[in-house]
Amino acid sequence: MRSMSPAAEVAYREGLIHALETAGDLLARGGTALDGVTLAVGAMEQSGAFNAGRGSALSFEGQIEADAAVMDGDSLEVGAVAAVPDVTNGVHVARDVMTKSIHCLLAGEAAKKWAIRNGIDVECNPVPRERKAQWARMLKKSDPQSAMERLLSMSGTHDLGDTVGAVARDGEGRLAVAVSTGGIWLKSGGRVGDSPLIGSGFWADSRFGAVCATGTGEFIMRGMLVSRVALAMESGQSVEAATLQGLEHLNAQFGPGKAGLIAIGADGSFCTPFDTAGMGRGWYTHEMMAPEVRVWPEEDG
Ligand code: ASP
Repeated sequence: MRSMSPAAEVAYREGLIHALETAGDLLARGGTALDGVTLAVGAMEQSGAFNAGRGSALSFEGQIEADAAVMDGDSLEVGAVAAVPDVTNGVHVARDVMTKSIHCLLAGEAAKKWAIRNGIDVECNPVPRERKAQWARMLKKSDPQSAMERLLSMSGTHDLGDTVGAVARDGEGRLAVAVSTGGIWLKSGGRVGDSPLIGSGFWADSRFGAVCATGTGEFIMRGMLVSRVALAMESGQSVEAATLQGLEHLNAQFGPGKAGLIAIGADGSFCTPFDTAGMGRGWYTHEMMAPEVRVWPEEDG
């Protein structure tokens, strides 16, 4: 089912192109994969067209609670934040967790306080009017008993975009991944999805590959989706075989329509498989004049 209005789809495609161009320019000038993915995800957080940053899905209480992460495939360093209230630049805070703290993952109000105490630029923009209206409409239709039904019915209907992620390989062959999300609509306060968890929502190792997931976190976590893909890539499988096998496994466990992946291998081969109704995806390699962007399955031909 297509749940995006034509105007939202235009903004969504433009947001993808802008993110790819911004990161592509940086990489073409010799930037690192880690800076490229941070920039791409930061641009999508600012766009408001995606479920991340300004456009985040809202919790049951109508609040943004951001999950975000970065991983450097060279050093295997990770920075992540989970369920951080009001924050709209989660990926930058995650990057600071990586470089300025001794930890991998900080969560909740305390993570925000840590960032402010450390002089990190924590952006807390007001929730856009249309997101508030969307929240009010969803709240009206929902009753607390139907939480699991809501979770299941989300599969395959990507409401105005989803979690944003980027994987990249730079001129030195370094790989990196970044991800950011508001999570799932009407989630309980304090809920953490797959996105800030290594091996659930993301992973990068320059020797093998980098992967990022989107979809319903409750299934992605239980199915250990990205861990499965990572182990398959480590054992020598191609990016395509590893990701398809990971999605097939999730499908066998929990049924279809639960997730999508973006992945890149150490050799630069990449793929973007999904079994949801749609998934915004795009790529920009040094041989291309402009980024390629797609949303719906039939665009893959
Ligand atoms: N995976 C995210 C989560 O469950 C949601 C999404 O991909 O849209 O938090």
